[in-house]
Amino acid sequence: MGRLRLDLNQARERMVVEQLERRGIKDPRVLAAMRTVERDRFIPPEYVDHAYDDGPLPIGSSQTISQPYIVALMTEVAELKGSERVLEIGTGSGYQTAVLSQLAAEVYSMEVIPELLERARRALDTIGVRNVHLRCGDGSEGWPEAAPFDVILVTAAMPGIARPLVDQLSPGGKLIAPIGEEDLQTLVRLQNINGSWQEQYFGECRFVKMTGKHGF
Ligand code: SAH
Repeated sequence: MGRLRLDLNQARERMVVEQLERRGIKDPRVLAAMRTVERDRFIPPEYVDHAYDDGPLPIGSSQTISQPYIVALMTEVAELKGSERVLEIGTGSGYQTAVLSQLAAEVYSMEVIPELLERARRALDTIGVRNVHLRCGDGSEGWPEAAPFDVILVTAAMPGIARPLVDQLSPGGKLIAPIGEEDLQTLVRLQNINGSWQEQYFGECRFVKMTGKHGF
């Protein structure tokens, strides 16, 4: 076990250098969080040897844990300073949740598949996070009771920007989401700056699809 932990830690450091830094992830806080959070705790035991591979991995229920680079990119695009309230939609494994928990004040995360949420809860418990709130339900409608949020980060593909999510942003808040078709999306950041909506694009991505009222 001691040996394995050492190997995993070395693999994680390699992941940060080769997959993140070399591809342009720069925010030192994001890089530090990616160095801290043990991705291997968020994947099924049979894939532990691949915990730091450059891609998504199956987590059961036909869902996946996102590629490390995509987790880092979405987190960087959120520009977290530490005081924010964040809503994540699509808890999945809980890995992105854990990364966000290192960088924001409070993290709310919603998952529609109960088994995944319970597994994520256990994994998050093992790393001892205290600022994460989990809820089972249709995240495409957001979490109105906990709104407003400074950042809403959607980690499942959406056909368009869902109105309820926009309504749950704080003034100047950011919505980050993969928007597009079921098999290919664009990573979009929507932000209200002085009363006008600005959209920025951060390249193509492939997420599993969002279900629910405002999903596919
Ligand atoms: N952030 C995750 C990636 C999860 S994949 C990670 O780091 O592991 C996307 C997840 O979104 C899946 O677990 C899927 O079940 C969930 N999902 C899909 N539609 C949803 C909805 N309407 N509400 C909440 N979660 C949803």
